[in-house]
Amino acid sequence: MGDATGPVRCPHCGGTDFFVLSTGVAYRGGTIIETYRWPAEGAAPVDSLGLEDAGYEVEQEVLEEPDIVAVEGQVRAMCVGCLTDLTEQYLTYGRGESLLPV
Ligand SMILES: [Zn+2]
Repeated sequence: MGDATGPVRCPHCGGTDFFVLSTGVAYRGGTIIETYRWPAEGAAPVDSLGLEDAGYEVEQEVLEEPDIVAVEGQVRAMCVGCLTDLTEQYLTYGRGESLLPV
């Protein structure tokens, strides 16, 4: 306790890497361009990664990545090694770090 300089350490397996799962993430400012292509007559359906909208094949390209402006849902942290819940340690760590003057 009180060690604010080290990494978050999993109490179960001692690992220092963790996932952070954030829900309810709000974005702003992104730009995408969508290309609508009417498929050629009689063409075999293409197993593409694109979307489909009323018969059109739609291709999306992100021109500008949006910024995260808010996380309105729950935040959970889990150990990468054993999935032990590290939310409390993660939140404590973040708080401690932001309070550090250096
Ligand atoms: Zn662990």
